[in-house]
Amino acid sequence: MIIGVHTSVALGLHMAVERARDLKCNAMQFFWRNPRSWARVPLSKEEVSLFKGARKASALEIAVIHTPYLINLSSPDDALFEKSVELFKKEFEAAVLLGVDFLVTHLGSHHGKGADSALERIECAMRRVLELSVARGKNYPVVLFENSAGGGNTFGSNIDEIGRALDAADRAGLSAGFCFDTCHGFAAGYPLESRADVKALATLIDNKVGLKRLRLIHLNDSKGALDSRVDRHEHIGKGKIGLKGFRAFLGMKEFKRLPIILETPKETEMDDPKNIKIVKRIVEEQPNG
Ligand SMILES: [Zn+2]
Ligand SMILES: [Zn+2]
Repeated sequence: MIIGVHTSVALGLHMAVERARDLKCNAMQFFWRNPRSWARVPLSKEEVSLFKGARKASALEIAVIHTPYLINLSSPDDALFEKSVELFKKEFEAAVLLGVDFLVTHLGSHHGKGADSALERIECAMRRVLELSVARGKNYPVVLFENSAGGGNTFGSNIDEIGRALDAADRAGLSAGFCFDTCHGFAAGYPLESRADVKALATLIDNKVGLKRLRLIHLNDSKGALDSRVDRHEHIGKGKIGLKGFRAFLGMKEFKRLPIILETPKETEMDDPKNIKIVKRIVEEQPNG
């Protein structure tokens, strides 16, 4: 299985690779710069070569950059949309330079203007990303749209919206994919309690998005209840999804085959190894491996 955690780059991008290795992970996700800031110090040549060197020496199969939550690709506000597109372009350029596999982003909020307004903005944003010179060689990471927990006017909390956003990206000429976050999905009203629930979810994703476009799983338990629209991650098995839910989810071949990134809380040094161990155990316990 391919599994990793969201890793801090506080000590340098290459040190995040070291952390993934210490955790015996073959995947990792990170924010390449401060996710709470609009400012971006460009990558230095040294940072890029240290990162690539560390990655080459590791068993890393998948590296993922997550864009900052500041970005609102659905915003009807011209100034915020403009800032968002500019920042997203910098994230995309960094992802190309570092040679990561996926660039995960949320779709933001349409502030009550509705889905069509959001889709128009997303299509426009993706068109502008493809104008970047780094996009010319087609050798760029796959952009993944992540489902959100919902609440307010966020776009992309339901699977249908994700499918429509991916179609909008297609119209712009960008073949994007889907990152399903279990905490967000559960908080947005998709139950994960039984095999039947998980099967229904897989069927829904296949109908609205296409399972081929589902490329990554964010595996998180949820502090919030089903349909609570609360985005608060919990340790695997300790939240409202619970071990039973994760056994059902990871028992489904449609999900088990995908790379997994954990974004569970990090209160102590032991939290990541503990959560990883639990997930590995659940997968090993499955009757057909
Ligand atoms: Zn996310
Ligand atoms: Zn997530």
